[in-house]
Amino acid sequence: MTHPDRRSRLLELRAQLQNADRQYHLLDAPIMADPEYDLLKAELRELEEEFPELAHPESPSQTIGAGPRAEFTKSTHRSPMMSLENAFDEGDLRAWVTRAQRHLGGDAELSGFSVEPKVDGISINLRYAGRRFVSAATRGDGETGEDVTANIATIAMLPAQLNSEAPLVEFEVRGEVYVEKADFEAFNAALASGEERYVNPRNFAGGSLRQLDARITAKRPLRVVLYAFPAAREFGITRQSEVLATLAAWGLPTESTRQRTLSSPDEVIAHYHAFVAARDALPFEVDGLVVKVDDLTLQEKLGARSRTPRWAIAWKLPAREASTRLLGIEISVGRTGALTPVAVLEPVFVAGVTVSSATLHNAEEIERLDVRVGDTVLVQRAGDVIPKITAVLPTEGHGERPRFVMPSACPICSTPVVLVPDEVVTRCPNLRCPAQVKARLRHFASVDAINIDGLGEKLIDQLVETGLAQSPEDLFRLDAKVLAGLDRMGERSAAKLVTSLEAAKQTTLPRLVFGLGIRHVGEVVARGLAQHYGTLGALTEATEESLTAAPDVGAVVAKSVRQFLDQEGGLALVRALEPIFRYPDPRANRPSAGALQGTIAVVTGTLDGISRGDAEALLREQGAKVTGSVSKATTFLLAGEDAGSKLEKARALGKPVLSLAELHAWIQTGNRPFPGN
Ligand code: AMP
Ligand code: ZN
Repeated sequence: MTHPDRRSRLLELRAQLQNADRQYHLLDAPIMADPEYDLLKAELRELEEEFPELAHPESPSQTIGAGPRAEFTKSTHRSPMMSLENAFDEGDLRAWVTRAQRHLGGDAELSGFSVEPKVDGISINLRYAGRRFVSAATRGDGETGEDVTANIATIAMLPAQLNSEAPLVEFEVRGEVYVEKADFEAFNAALASGEERYVNPRNFAGGSLRQLDARITAKRPLRVVLYAFPAAREFGITRQSEVLATLAAWGLPTESTRQRTLSSPDEVIAHYHAFVAARDALPFEVDGLVVKVDDLTLQEKLGARSRTPRWAIAWKLPAREASTRLLGIEISVGRTGALTPVAVLEPVFVAGVTVSSATLHNAEEIERLDVRVGDTVLVQRAGDVIPKITAVLPTEGHGERPRFVMPSACPICSTPVVLVPDEVVTRCPNLRCPAQVKARLRHFASVDAINIDGLGEKLIDQLVETGLAQSPEDLFRLDAKVLAGLDRMGERSAAKLVTSLEAAKQTTLPRLVFGLGIRHVGEVVARGLAQHYGTLGALTEATEESLTAAPDVGAVVAKSVRQFLDQEGGLALVRALEPIFRYPDPRANRPSAGALQGTIAVVTGTLDGISRGDAEALLREQGAKVTGSVSKATTFLLAGEDAGSKLEKARALGKPVLSLAELHAWIQTGNRPFPGN
């Protein structure tokens, strides 16, 4: 780039970032992925250093966030709310430590770091006086934010009154307003089609907090975590780690259990890697670890630059989001014939892997996103979940590109598709459609169903394409000789497969029912059906009405089961499978009335010596119904180590919390360990 080009690049970047800041901070609608934002900002800073005459105090490189929204009253913070410098790798972290050490002048090694999760939400400044909550403001531009007192006051986990250990004078504490991942998913899932969605938990938190009508905020699952107490030293607190403990002692929510006090950069680095590996298990999104010099006197000596303190750094986690181009939309046909559009993407690196496709769910989702081939999209990858497209970024030419239309015939077998009324799904109605046949066999053989070792996807494709297997029962007629003749199969793997097919014949009825692949029949329903009917044969005679008497079976499931049996080949399949398998009678050890009959239980945390699944099985066996979340209807919570939000919720609702030992005692004696019936 020539000199004038670089100057105009600087101005262009500035405008682009100003717009991005506005969209992100004021409108809660990001227009670029975070990593891209960070890159552009770094480029802008470099150019501003090169052309100091163009530097400007209002440049996005010099400001934090965006000024307050006109609709909210302004509120000035007692001391500025800062941003944090970023580190992206070990080198950055060590360089930060070295810089800080040099700044302190002495040769003394900097030791003692408070390391905290960087919860991904909206920064908040709370003011307390006389131990009572007085007001709350967003960070805004760092000096002045928006007064969101009424909105913050709706958050139940935040005490209006601190306990008696807290000082009576006025002080500020700072933290983050956020929502848990599960609450975000549930909110989006409950939205009617066409209603506007939030892209991610952080935007959901921001949008919910900045409602002009606090009654709307009150209905949102907002949470708060606090991590800073600017006046700490005036109260005799000497370390950051002590700050968290102190705030917690006053009754304020902190992440003190996930905070670590570490003594060397090596320890910080080791903790970072462990933290990255465990991030999916956290109930909330994090975008990094905040590493702080633990000693508050040293923090004071280190001070701050214009917008970031020298005593802290945000070590970013690998981003889960990236922007890329949508190259095409392909259709995949599943087990039940559902046509699922799949996005073909320009390969992009997201959270440690290269992503080249993402699910688009169904035609309605495509319409909702208004995503068109050629668009630049935001791709998100969380844990092991299939990557998904969360938003279309504003790109030129979008309006001129054609909209996606669902094909009118199955792309695999050419049968005209059907659109089930009241469902958003388009289906291929041909039960012999090779795509469906393959998917049904894959499901039948999967670990949670019959669990046939050595029968992988490629092999299933071959079996279907060569006509050796069309239906699960065909698998059990395969012999080693035929199998050995298939591509990439030798005599040894053929013999092994025959052995595992033989072993798979000994199974359980819930697995078998689940393996049938009936729509709406997941593992829980399959277990209910198995317990109720006891044999496959009895299940075939079930009527829609009698089906609803089985545990966990409602009208929709009952109808689906009957439809499955009545459809062409349905009954024949079940009859063909019946003589192949052996399974214990699931009714045999079912207690007529367990000690927990009529109760509704929720399990949380790590239980000693028993897996979550086994604990749930034990509860069910004793007659309890097990649900996933604590509500008014819950009878009790079974809690182990590291219990999180469910425990808080149970306490808030005054529900009894039992340990595993207390549960065992209850089962053995039949004496309920809490009042009620
Ligand atoms: P940034 O806005 O990316 O410069 O990052 C700074 C922001 O990180 C702060 O304003 C806080 O909102 C947020 N943050 C989250 N967790 C912490 C924490 N434990 N300590 C400090 N800041 C945190
Ligand atoms: Zn088809």
